[in-house]
Amino acid sequence: MSYQASTSLPKTMSAIVCWGAQDYRLQEWDVPQPEAEEVIVRVKSVGICASDLKCYQGAPLFWGDKHRTGYCQTPVIPGHEFVGEVVALGAGAREKYNLELGDLAVSEQIVPCWKCRFCKRGQYWMCQDKHDVYGFRQATFGAMAEYMKFPVGALNYKVPTSIPVHHAAFIEPLACGIHAVKRGEIQLDDVVVIAGAGPLGLGMVAAARLKNPRLLVAIDLNDDRLEIARLCGADLTLNPARVDVIDEVMKLTDHYGCDVYIEATGYPAAVEQGLRMIRKLGTFVEFSVMREPVTVDWTIIGDTKELNIHGAHLSPYCYPIAINMLQKGLLPMDRIVTHQMPLSSFHEGMNMVASGKESIKVTLTP
Ligand SMILES: [Zn+2]
Ligand SMILES: [Zn+2]
Repeated sequence: MSYQASTSLPKTMSAIVCWGAQDYRLQEWDVPQPEAEEVIVRVKSVGICASDLKCYQGAPLFWGDKHRTGYCQTPVIPGHEFVGEVVALGAGAREKYNLELGDLAVSEQIVPCWKCRFCKRGQYWMCQDKHDVYGFRQATFGAMAEYMKFPVGALNYKVPTSIPVHHAAFIEPLACGIHAVKRGEIQLDDVVVIAGAGPLGLGMVAAARLKNPRLLVAIDLNDDRLEIARLCGADLTLNPARVDVIDEVMKLTDHYGCDVYIEATGYPAAVEQGLRMIRKLGTFVEFSVMREPVTVDWTIIGDTKELNIHGAHLSPYCYPIAINMLQKGLLPMDRIVTHQMPLSSFHEGMNMVASGKESIKVTLTP
């Protein structure tokens, strides 16, 4: 045995396996074995992400269309928001990641190639050649299983045990929210609008709070979520079902419009709304994975407002910040992680995320 393990690993485990859109099955699967520099964890908690739902529902990003091949490779075990206990360390993994058996650990959602142009420049989140994200690719099986492997090239971090495991499963989405906020290049005097107070938007509100802009506004159709946005640090919340949010933001800004708009709703209407309420020369951050293409008047971006349009993808260099924010208790995590279910309740959990009514973050315990 060329690796170190707390106990001998079982041969098989129960796992959710994705065989295609709408075809996810609870079944027995082989337990991964660690090669050199690899880490095996016993999964403690895994969140269901909106992107898991979009993959499940058959979004073109994952299953392809006439312009692109699908990102998802089958069969694959889903799950990229997770935390696990280290149960086996391949040769050299202990030294490389400063991890011990028994530690709680997390791995950045992408395992890059470290060889392409982007990886060599430190822009590993845009990796060209492999771009393997846990839960969608066969090189990076995800966490909806009892065990999972952090393969060679992964970016692994120790998680303090003071963070409850079902809160630690939120490290990934929070890190993505932090990156989107960084892309907004918020200044101290800015009026910042974050559209969407789902798990991602709430993390963005908490991260934007750390930047202390002049006014931090959250928009959502759900009042419960807006209440949590205020607990995350929003100065003001607006519900488009009740007020004309564009009008309100214009009034708040002497009719200039907001300086920074971050779109995290997943709905095309929020893109248009942002283009209308943002000021000239403002910065618009697009985060959502949309189910369909979005049509807007691009003249606003160029001729009318000369906007900065910033994309945001994954969470480079943000995991340590997310871990630190959770450790400091900067988010009302008991309000955000609303449901914990066994792995076998996967379909129920998916339906809950789809309806989005009574849940915010749903986690599974394999
Ligand atoms: Zn996610
Ligand atoms: Zn690369």
